[in-house]
Amino acid sequence: MKLLVIGCGGVATVAIHKCCQNPLFTEICIASRTVSKCEALAAKLAPTTSAKLTTATVNADSVESLVTLMKAFKPHTVLNVALPYQDLTIMDACLECGANYVDTANYEAEDTDDPEWRKIYEKRCQEKGFTAYFDYSWQWAYQEKFKKAGLTALLGTGFDPGVTSVFTAYALKHYFDEIHYIDILDCNGGDHGYPFATNFNPEINLREVSANGSYWENGHWVETKPMEIKREYNFDGVGQKDMYLLHHEEIESLAKNIPNVKRIRFFMTFGQSYLTHMNCLQNVGMLGTTPIEFEGHEIVPIKFLKALLPDPASLGARTVGKTNIGCIFTGIKDGKKKSVYIYNICDHQEAYKETGLQAISYTTGVPAMIGTALVASGTWSGAGVFNVEEFDPDPYMDMLNQYGLPWVVNENPVLVD
Ligand code: NDP
Repeated sequence: MKLLVIGCGGVATVAIHKCCQNPLFTEICIASRTVSKCEALAAKLAPTTSAKLTTATVNADSVESLVTLMKAFKPHTVLNVALPYQDLTIMDACLECGANYVDTANYEAEDTDDPEWRKIYEKRCQEKGFTAYFDYSWQWAYQEKFKKAGLTALLGTGFDPGVTSVFTAYALKHYFDEIHYIDILDCNGGDHGYPFATNFNPEINLREVSANGSYWENGHWVETKPMEIKREYNFDGVGQKDMYLLHHEEIESLAKNIPNVKRIRFFMTFGQSYLTHMNCLQNVGMLGTTPIEFEGHEIVPIKFLKALLPDPASLGARTVGKTNIGCIFTGIKDGKKKSVYIYNICDHQEAYKETGLQAISYTTGVPAMIGTALVASGTWSGAGVFNVEEFDPDPYMDMLNQYGLPWVVNENPVLVD
């Protein structure tokens, strides 16, 4: 089966490592903006796999560049692990070339000052009630096109979104008649020793964390100020951590796909040093996405900041500790109220030993491979645009155990108030 992977950053590197371990993928083309990174990874992995590895340069912002590559390589499935900015161009190219599409993050506009985009965004803010720059409407709008083409688009198969939504489908299938409350808890207990660094692409990460929070309750969105809601939780394998309520994309799809759900919240842990740095950078304008003129050059502040910060792909060697990411569900089974917590613990150094990357890239790259494999093998099939919770969770849960992200079910969890 021919797979085209677009992007060659932290998440892509892990996903490609894992694709090389899966005999389903007989030919893998690694294509990205900087082809030297693709070549170095292909050279490293070639002796470890029976898959034929090739590389290519591609500008994923250009449908034309993508179509040229796809017409030459003829992929069965395309895994997009570039940036959310490229989701729509890659979906368009897949439709034109007859390939299935898989990604790990929903569409986000790179230029949030573009007046055309802004008009649609402001209408959506009013209609839906949350102000995040990213949402599923852009990609769900491709439903008819993928249906007509007889192709599958699988959205959001990272850890969160991704595994958290598969945990939800699994809980609903095996533990509940109805799920009423979902709390998604994302804890990173890792320490990289820098005063400030982000664990994945800084631009995407800082935009997400500095935005308003929101949660879904009784059929509508409730929006909060950034970091307004704080809780403490004692995480298995990590210990006591502060966590903050954020807006997160799987809330939107779970609210649509899980019947009778009353509330969905997402919490992420942050240390005080991270928050102090982020607030300071925001206050001085370094998170801005609008270009400014500096000594005759145009500079986008957040892109300049990205150039100064450590490359997330370089954090692996120095990050110690564990992540613990999962969901606490409360609902009804056989007329009785119950709660279940499903989570995975991932060790940064173990992830590094296997792939050269820390656990944040690992916990995203492994599920990226799993979702891709389920689509490519036809185990998850159907024409249209799907979120992962719409398919049978069992084969995905088995592959999490098989490919390095084993999970735990706790039927008596401590709840979040
Ligand atoms: P990186 O910045 O490390 O990697 C992005 C890669 O995409 C780089 O190789 C980059 O090339 C390439 N790229 C960027 N723009 C283009 C373009 N126009 N054309 C071709 N290639 C391009 O990001 P991460 O690996 O940290 O993240 C990858 C994706 O995973 C993101 O969409 C992120 O949101 C998502 N993610 C999802 C998570 C989940 O749990 N669902 C968690 C974490 C991340 P170059 O090397 O030249 O910069």
